[in-house]
Amino acid sequence: MPAKKKAEPAKTKKKVPAKKASAKTEEVPKKKVKTPELLRGFRDILPDEQGRWNMVRDAIRNIAEAYTFDRIDLPVLERTDLFQRTVGKATDIIEKEMYTFTDPSNRSVALRPEATASAARAYINHGMLERPQPVKLWYMGPMFRHDRPQAGRYRQFNQAGFESFGVHEPIVDAQLIVLGVQIFKDLGLDVKVDINSIGTPECRQAYLAELVAYFRQHRSKLCDEDKKRLQKNPLRLLDSKDETTRELLDGAPQILDWLDEKSKEHFMKVLEFIEEVEIPFTLNPYLVRGLDYYSHTVFEFLPADDTGEKAQNALGGGGRYDGLVELLGGREETPACGFALGIERIVRALGDKGIDPPQRPQPQVFFAQLGDAARRIGLNLYEEFRQAGIPVAEAFGKNALKAQLEAANKLNVDLTLILGQKEVLDGTIIIRDMESGAQEIVDVKKVVSLVEKKLRKEEGVAPITQSPVVEK
Ligand code: AMP
Repeated sequence: MPAKKKAEPAKTKKKVPAKKASAKTEEVPKKKVKTPELLRGFRDILPDEQGRWNMVRDAIRNIAEAYTFDRIDLPVLERTDLFQRTVGKATDIIEKEMYTFTDPSNRSVALRPEATASAARAYINHGMLERPQPVKLWYMGPMFRHDRPQAGRYRQFNQAGFESFGVHEPIVDAQLIVLGVQIFKDLGLDVKVDINSIGTPECRQAYLAELVAYFRQHRSKLCDEDKKRLQKNPLRLLDSKDETTRELLDGAPQILDWLDEKSKEHFMKVLEFIEEVEIPFTLNPYLVRGLDYYSHTVFEFLPADDTGEKAQNALGGGGRYDGLVELLGGREETPACGFALGIERIVRALGDKGIDPPQRPQPQVFFAQLGDAARRIGLNLYEEFRQAGIPVAEAFGKNALKAQLEAANKLNVDLTLILGQKEVLDGTIIIRDMESGAQEIVDVKKVVSLVEKKLRKEEGVAPITQSPVVEK
């Protein structure tokens, strides 16, 4: 989200007179340093948001593992040509959204706008064609598109993608849709699937000739953007958001009527499979997706209550891209299918539905210290407790015992460990029961196991857990 504009520091600076200025010791007014602002369309993902982000990351990783996809991490920067050849020169991404620049070696490079092309490149580069097929890869990371920022649309955003290479069978398309839906289900989100087939490049060619002929008759009614599409990338007229174009689409030829027998058969099988698992889907004849490399099945995941008015509501999308590997110099006719999810949008959907992340286990123990010798022992103890799976809170920065006990009270811990100068000398430590106020002096070497026993005994104390799950 773009940063809110703050009061211009330069203006206020002028108004402030130099205070108590005297002839002898004139105070130089301190220069106000301007804090750099975020670039438009870029955002910080703050600690408060990380709980939901972790929920999404965990759900994705769990499904990836259960469906035996192997993780791949791909570079953020690639040769520009990779995307030009695959995404398509006449697409919005290539025409106006790519962050492209010349690197110090005088090569044209681009921040990746998507990662399917990189995954296909990696599949070829690393000889994955020779492995048993399908090769199933998944990834997660930032993508960059210089689009117009708005709610749910950023210039840097994160996608998680699943790509399956090497198998033609419609079950692959279906299983990808099923696992995508399952990620949303696991998160507690209701989604619907829009699905279409855009056939092979050959049947698409014949269809496009028909579509162009139809829209040429109505050219004068089209907005400027759609006039351009008619000329450069007519398939995109199908997902135009312009009302007139959408009305015209009612009478337009539909791609499903132009599919050859094989494409039809493939698509029908995909639909049968997803019907079998009762995934709610809508046959959307206008769904084409923005990139050139798709063929046959295309699909999108949308919030179940989506009205279809805003393009930036889609939570994810993908399809089959049988020609992509060959396009990049890989083996001819290497089939592939995949999809990508928009993580920011899923996190936002969780927030809209009031779905909160599980709370981090609260520490049940607080460590209070008096002086640097105690702090030194404290550093070791903290680690010993961590290894024993007991979360410990501390206020190493505070000096007074009173302030530390107040902090312990606020956290509502069961036990506070107090290490003063005397205890340091004696090799002991005090365990204070916060409810009764009873204190016990014990051998510092035994404190971890004693605390462990006490916590287990405490009535109503939850079993000791490890630190909260975070992405590995
Ligand atoms: P695409 O590669 O355009 O099909 O995008 C797949 C998914 O990524 C979309 O359905 C969105 O959820 C998400 N996405 C695409 N572009 C953006 C963006 N500019 N900002 C945030 N999320 C995006």
